[in-house]
Amino acid sequence: MSNPRAACVIGWPAKHSRSPKLHGYWIKRYGIDGDYRIEEVRAEDFSSFIASLALRGYVGANVTMPHKDAALALSEPDTRARTIGAANTLWLDKGTLRSTNTDVEGFIGALDAGAPGWRERTDTAVVLGAGGAARAAVHGLIECGVTAIHVVNRTYEKAASFRDRFGPSVRPAHWSDLPHLLDNAKLLVNATSLGMKGQPEIPIDLSLLPDDAVVSDIVYVPLKTGLLAAAERRGLRTSNGLNMLLHQAVRGFELWFGIRPEVTPELFALLAADIEKA
Ligand code: NAP
Repeated sequence: MSNPRAACVIGWPAKHSRSPKLHGYWIKRYGIDGDYRIEEVRAEDFSSFIASLALRGYVGANVTMPHKDAALALSEPDTRARTIGAANTLWLDKGTLRSTNTDVEGFIGALDAGAPGWRERTDTAVVLGAGGAARAAVHGLIECGVTAIHVVNRTYEKAASFRDRFGPSVRPAHWSDLPHLLDNAKLLVNATSLGMKGQPEIPIDLSLLPDDAVVSDIVYVPLKTGLLAAAERRGLRTSNGLNMLLHQAVRGFELWFGIRPEVTPELFALLAADIEKA
């Protein structure tokens, strides 16, 4: 009897996760004898679920709300997960449960795809937001050598805490500072939930950005946010949230199934269709 390698996404709730569609596409494309399932696990059951991951037939897992902090505490995290303070990908390595945070490579992979060459031109960036996604974005920018990152957040103290976490390249700021920061920024990142379906748009004037700036939005519902539409009208290059979601999944798949999968236009279209009908 065949014994397929299996991975899962663990969350509560998790039944609307798009990860099975995404990993299922790659499993089929690469002809892998594998499976990717949804596991709805309550916070109080997470630790015992994780302890029995191998017994349940899993080689690893994605972890989503509300388990990202617990996943970090219950595993051996790499530098990215430890610095960000959250893990979203787990894998078993000769009996040891290891973890990483793949939102970093998701964010950078999407930028590389949407705006090739951005790294060479970007010394100053503005990141809107100081939540979990912003931590991954800031970590990625620092890894790529960006030396000045203005972190703008409604709750200023959370932006200020980024300086303690990530060091002197972070410059915490208030929303009211934004007009003075944009004229020097080669990259603007939305890492808030603003612009998401049902949420207010971002109050920002993109005419203040340099003509060669890049605008990145990590929100992917809708696919083209108001910010991305405004950036396109302004003639700026953009990076979208769906590409981040797809690129963040690459590493987990490689760790679990042994093949580094490709983010194809076909995969993008598959997930885009799913989002558009939501
Ligand atoms: P989070 O930790 O809850 O952080 C939310 C951020 O948005 C905080 O900085 C918050 O500011 C800010 N915010 C919320 N409402 C606001 C408002 N009305 N005005 C100003 N700021 C507001 O959430 P997260 O995990 O970072 O996720 C943020 C977004 O990223 C979500 O839309 C999520 O779906 C998306 N995301 C996308 C990907 C991807 O792969 N594309 C990956 C991860 C997350 P305060 O600190 O002041 O509350």
